[in-house]
Amino acid sequence: MSQFKFKVENEIADSNLNGRTGVITTPHGEIKTPAFIPVGTKATVKSVLPESMADLGAQALLANAYHLYLQPGPEIVDEAGGVGKFMNWSGPTFTDSGGFQVLSLGVGFKKVIAMDEDTFRSDEVIADHKERLAHVDNDGVTFKSHLDGSMHRFTPEVSMQVQHQLGADIIFAFDECTTLHNTRKYQEKSLERTRLWAKRCLVEHGRLTRERASKPYQALWGVLQGAQYEDLRRKAAKDLGALDEDGITFDGFGLGGALDKANLGTIVGWMTDELPRDKPRHLLGIGEPDDLFVGVENGADTFDCVAPSRQARTSAVFTNDGRVNITNAKFNRDFNPIDESCDCYTCANYTAAYLNHLFRSKEMIGSTLATIHNERFIVRLVERMRTEINNGDFQEFKRDFLGRFYSASNK
Ligand SMILES: [Zn+2]
Repeated sequence: MSQFKFKVENEIADSNLNGRTGVITTPHGEIKTPAFIPVGTKATVKSVLPESMADLGAQALLANAYHLYLQPGPEIVDEAGGVGKFMNWSGPTFTDSGGFQVLSLGVGFKKVIAMDEDTFRSDEVIADHKERLAHVDNDGVTFKSHLDGSMHRFTPEVSMQVQHQLGADIIFAFDECTTLHNTRKYQEKSLERTRLWAKRCLVEHGRLTRERASKPYQALWGVLQGAQYEDLRRKAAKDLGALDEDGITFDGFGLGGALDKANLGTIVGWMTDELPRDKPRHLLGIGEPDDLFVGVENGADTFDCVAPSRQARTSAVFTNDGRVNITNAKFNRDFNPIDESCDCYTCANYTAAYLNHLFRSKEMIGSTLATIHNERFIVRLVERMRTEINNGDFQEFKRDFLGRFYSASNK
């Protein structure tokens, strides 16, 4: 337990905001927060070597329990010495519980949606008669593998067993991720289910920690749901913040579920108001620049998202003036870096014209170079937020950055 610690350093000087800087200590090193944690879903950040991820400033990587459970199987990762060792990454690692994947792959819902685009409320998307890949009951989730159609079952206990075998430093409790379209009644029922699952996760985590006492300590973070409802979000934070199963408590918290983009900051603030101040919080699946700013200022310490790498592979790259598509004809004679102010390996050594050529000719290192750039851009953006909180200049930096990045003239 002493191998895992969190220390708050500085807080934003605004009583309406919960943003802070800190340091998470794990058996595989420190994470200075706030920090963006790049995603290596299947124990690899697609197209990029772990050495390059370390070079670009990634402090930790997050892999996915659902994908590694199906392939290659958690027992193989365990035998390899855990997910970090398996993928040749010596720093801290996270795995998510698989809850989001087993449910979302069946229903196809998105993480952040604009509520005003689609306002219907219904449990239709999770109704029994609907053809889908996952079925939830009070004990767990039965789901169909997206790889071969075979049937599997995750319960809180199975998720803990899988994540202990995967061996990441920070693991998450198994939760039911609802959509913003579910009815209020369903959200209440689901929240209680997630609370009972959280208790079961703590018990099983305690058992596995004792059984595997020779392994490095794994920190378990509870996941808060409650969709767009203030009372449910605050209740989730209070309930999970206070859970104690024979001395086993959560080491940190995941802020989960579907999130209404327009109210993201408010929703994060409801949860961080209620959570213990001395434990770290991870905002699951968030990585757009505007969302990162509101997440940080409202008290989220770490973030993960596949977006920077996924977008890079579709030739969409970040610049301080917004996202651009590097295949655009205007770049074919642009012999400058993608972004003049970027300090990444790609921008130090390659031109926009070369990336334009690589993507147009479908050469593999196009994805590699674009991913290095995008991951560095987001990692560095959050690093800068940390610096500006420490300097007391966060709000000014936020205004300047977002004003330029989302300026209408860039569209
Ligand atoms: Zn760059």
